[in-house]
Amino acid sequence: MSLDDLSNLIEIVSKLPGLGRRSGQKIALYLMQNKQLGISLCKILDKAILSVKSCENCGNLDVGNICSICSNSNRSRNLLCVVENVQDVWVLERSRLHDGVYHVLGGAISAIGGRGPDDLNIQKLIERIDKENIKEVIIATSATLDGESTGHYIADILEEKSIEITRIAHGIPMGAELDRMDDGTLRLALQMRKNWREEI
Ligand SMILES: [Zn+2]
Repeated sequence: MSLDDLSNLIEIVSKLPGLGRRSGQKIALYLMQNKQLGISLCKILDKAILSVKSCENCGNLDVGNICSICSNSNRSRNLLCVVENVQDVWVLERSRLHDGVYHVLGGAISAIGGRGPDDLNIQKLIERIDKENIKEVIIATSATLDGESTGHYIADILEEKSIEITRIAHGIPMGAELDRMDDGTLRLALQMRKNWREEI
């Protein structure tokens, strides 16, 4: 290994999301000092890259062309939850609160990021609603400006379909104090308020 190899490694690691040059150097150095971990990482990365695919139906990641959620006949097939990313599917799956299927958009509409509706997996969503007899679409995009505009865009294009369109509620997290909330969270919490009697 030459020093060029090391600087190439640092350069590649630094490109990973959330990392910069400093973290890239730290990780590359750690891997060089813990070679067994580096070798295991190489092997599993090689294997995962070859076997993990994007589900042709919903965009989730799995080892088959159709993911295990789409092919699971025990799930409520007419309840579809729209999310931005695969990580969102993992979060919702961990909560075990959604027993329907998903549709992964692959991001959110972003004016600043230069991402429009055509860059997202939206056409497939429209096809699925007709083909899979979907009765309800739950829009679970993030409570950010981009997430909100993506949610509105999807709700608008699905408006003529005879399905129910719902939005997950955002608001004050459990255990949080009101005076520590930012204005956006407070505004959403007020807008999404529910009838107290129905809640109990
Ligand atoms: Zn799938």
